[in-house]
Amino acid sequence: MRSELYIDGAWTPSSNGETFEVINPATEEVIHHIAAATAGDVDAAVKAARRAFDTDGWPQKTGTERARYLRAIANGIRARQAEIARLEVLDNGKPFPEADWDIADAAGCFDFYAGLAEELDGNPEETIALTDDRFTSRAVKEPIGVAGAIIPWNYPLLMASWKVAPALAAGCTVVLKPAEVTSLTALELAAIADDVGLPPGVLNVVTGAGSVAGQAIIDHNQVDKLAFTGSGPVGSKIMAAAARDIKRVSLELGGKSPFVVFDDAEIDKAVEWILFGIFWNQGQVCSATSRVLVQAGIYEKLLARLIEETNRITIGNGLDEGVLLGPLVSKKQHDQVVAAIAAARAAGATVACGGTRPEGFDKGYYLRPTILTDVPLDSAAWVEEIFGPVVCLRPFETEDEAIALANDSRFGLAAAVMSKDDARAERVATAFRAGIVWINCSQPTFTEAPWGGYKESGIGRELGRWGLDNYLEVKQITRYVSEDPWGWYIK
Ligand code: NAD
Repeated sequence: MRSELYIDGAWTPSSNGETFEVINPATEEVIHHIAAATAGDVDAAVKAARRAFDTDGWPQKTGTERARYLRAIANGIRARQAEIARLEVLDNGKPFPEADWDIADAAGCFDFYAGLAEELDGNPEETIALTDDRFTSRAVKEPIGVAGAIIPWNYPLLMASWKVAPALAAGCTVVLKPAEVTSLTALELAAIADDVGLPPGVLNVVTGAGSVAGQAIIDHNQVDKLAFTGSGPVGSKIMAAAARDIKRVSLELGGKSPFVVFDDAEIDKAVEWILFGIFWNQGQVCSATSRVLVQAGIYEKLLARLIEETNRITIGNGLDEGVLLGPLVSKKQHDQVVAAIAAARAAGATVACGGTRPEGFDKGYYLRPTILTDVPLDSAAWVEEIFGPVVCLRPFETEDEAIALANDSRFGLAAAVMSKDDARAERVATAFRAGIVWINCSQPTFTEAPWGGYKESGIGRELGRWGLDNYLEVKQITRYVSEDPWGWYIK
């Protein structure tokens, strides 16, 4: 396990010697200490990234050259997949098979953006048809510069990859700050980058508090672009900081995503996707479908099956065989989710199952998967992101009612619909005001497809070619090709 900052191609302790604890959420044990970066350390990282961008030639490398580094990083991740997945479990608590999936996806993300980096060589210029034939014009894409990437704790290495891979592919250099509760695998990413010979300063990893290291990144006037995933309130701070010197900004914030199940759906298939939509990663997923709307005709039957299957989920240490639900990531997150359930009860909701610590777990931030019914529409449980294994279930009568309920949210990250009637599913998918829509499933995510939200769920799109555009400027180059003088001042 690494414990130092990675700045300008070198491992270094924090300049004031401070560290913070790494706690295993399954046991509550302190398993490690990591350097807490100061504003001065962040400044050193930004300056290294600046130099790598401005004078050391990273943006001038061909896409194919940059792709070689990205593929080497992908291979480096894959070569250590099981070991890194284990670190993710120790840090985040998620079940090992989920962590293993994440790490494979992270490697795949580097491969995918290697492919797009190569395409930048083949298709760098777009000719623009002008109505005035005295000129020709073309548009070229160029890297934005130094990117500050700030990520959350729910998918530690994967969120790092979603930002670092497209940024490096585009020719940007990066200062990455992982979440303070899950920094281990971001440091391994730095180690892999170092092993493959990524030039110094191209990727820097500064661990530490959001209020210190994160704030220093967003305030730094030599950072050109901020890419953030996390909570709405911090997203607002980032946008405000970006506004001061017009940094480019992309935000992926929270959600309260609906899942509409019509009465022609097969109950078991619906139950399986509802479970996957809210209990995967302990419900700590920005796109979790946490508001489930079920057509009245099948509501009681579906609820009964859902309770039955929810109570069957094996809870435990993510490293243990067969576990499907691990502990929440931290005491803070656990206590917040428990408080949200208590508030839901106080507002009149019924706890149909779960809501308590599972039996036999004295240690660890465990919580039974929880189903809430009778949740008032104006209660926090229905309106606010809980970010835990808690789903609200509600019956509806008509398609119009379902759409209105689904869209009645200040968020718009994701939405799902299940029906055997394809035309109806398409109608509802079109009516959803959300950036990610699933038909007959919930949550599957593909590196090739755009990811991001409407409304307060964020700005911009990650993944796919949209994710690369996040790190590119567009320049027009226009040439006067006529032999005739311009003839405005000089006739
Ligand atoms: P957060 O927004 O506080 O933290 C996310 C990242 O931002 C972390 O790296 C953190 O250190 C950093 N940060 C915090 N303050 C900062 C500042 N002033 N300047 C710059 N960076 C700063 O999220 P959290 O505390 O990890 O979780 C709180 C809530 O956020 C959760 O309960 C959940 O609702 C939401 N969340 C959403 C996502 C998502 O994917 N959309 C992920 C994690 C958490």
